[in-house]
Amino acid sequence: MTMLELITKKKLGQALTREEIAFFVRCAAEQSAPDYQLAAMLMAIRLRGMTDQETTDLTLEMRDSGDVADLSGIPGIKVDKHSTGGVGDTATLVLAPLVAACGAPVAKMSGRGLGHTGGTLDKLESIPGLSVSRSIPEFIEQVKTVGVAVIGQTGDLAPADRTLYALRDVTSTVDSLPLIVSSILSKKLAAGSDAIVLDVKTGSGAILPALEDSIALAEALVRVGTLAGKPVAALISGMDQPLGTHVGNALEVKEAIDILAGRAAGDLLTVSLALGSQMLLLAGRAKTPEEGEAMLRRALESGAGLEKFRRMIAAQGGDPRVCEDVSLLPQAPVQKQITCGQSGYVSRMDTAALGMAAQGMGAGRLRAEDGIDYSVGFVLQVRIGDRVEPDTPLCVLHARTEADADRAEAAIRRAITIGGEPCGRAKNFLGLVTKDMAVRL
Ligand code: URA
Ligand code: CA
Repeated sequence: MTMLELITKKKLGQALTREEIAFFVRCAAEQSAPDYQLAAMLMAIRLRGMTDQETTDLTLEMRDSGDVADLSGIPGIKVDKHSTGGVGDTATLVLAPLVAACGAPVAKMSGRGLGHTGGTLDKLESIPGLSVSRSIPEFIEQVKTVGVAVIGQTGDLAPADRTLYALRDVTSTVDSLPLIVSSILSKKLAAGSDAIVLDVKTGSGAILPALEDSIALAEALVRVGTLAGKPVAALISGMDQPLGTHVGNALEVKEAIDILAGRAAGDLLTVSLALGSQMLLLAGRAKTPEEGEAMLRRALESGAGLEKFRRMIAAQGGDPRVCEDVSLLPQAPVQKQITCGQSGYVSRMDTAALGMAAQGMGAGRLRAEDGIDYSVGFVLQVRIGDRVEPDTPLCVLHARTEADADRAEAAIRRAITIGGEPCGRAKNFLGLVTKDMAVRL
């Protein structure tokens, strides 16, 4: 078997066998085939597609290209959650403690931000002292004693994905359903949980902005997850504006704490509760999404969720006093209030551009090895559909310098359209796909 034969076969639109896919994945993981052949195969897959069976085989071979975490030492059904990436998307920090407070163990391996999207690990590391590096035995022990741990990838999970993802990024082959599905699910399956809830974003800040494409992705993720033997549910949620009001690492931790303390609500809480209730459903803790949501609301109102977050922070070496005093989080030297400057209706946000504005302030990375500034970002004070006047607050910038604040202000103004016509609110929920059904919301 040679890569040349396999590329030819896929170029002609033929389905690859499990053995052929295993060979391709081995070539990627061991980097034993030249990049140009791997890249040619990726483009052939991008243009010709894959059957569900091929995508499942690719997912399982990629999962098995590295370590597979064994979390069987943790009693109960472990449910993981994954977002396809957004801006102001702090749902993990809101729902992980709430779901744990409802008795479902949360053993989560999260990622870092790249491009315009933020990463949960970077947000957590803005908490003084907190570490996201844990060995598998430490990870298991924390989930058993605290009920929740959110850590970085440990061991060598799905190394084939690392090679292939880097090549996709530079060969215009990111936007391929079989490649996205296998990339996401191989890593989630290797992380060892029993069931997976996926938050597929749609809209101007999403990996696939068009709703039809997001629905197709959600359906493919559920079909392939099911074929791979794991219960999977996928919610399709809106990314036409940042999910939370806070964008930036420490700022997003502050928003999560404000929500868990009952001081804030909004779309971030709404989406977190919907995702959390799907997790409780798959974990066998709730019989209906409504029952799950009621359990999560009780954990919120009783303070049990915030208490879980406090204990998780302490267990990971962080300063748990941030839960009472958010001013202990890193603070930017320059804080600047800006107003809308015109009257009208907030009609559109370019969410990816807003994410890039935060990145430009130092909140994100251009390259994986770049450092970040935890304190910077902004707090949006308008939502799509709002009627505004020139003096209506638009956002508060948290910047390193006045010049950074000015640059961010210009970028944010470009990214937010204020029009003359009234317009509706952006939708939070656009669809739900489970093994048994697909509904548009
Ligand atoms: N996230 C991933 O991990 N992989 C993709 O291909 C897309 C989003
Ligand atoms: Ca730290």
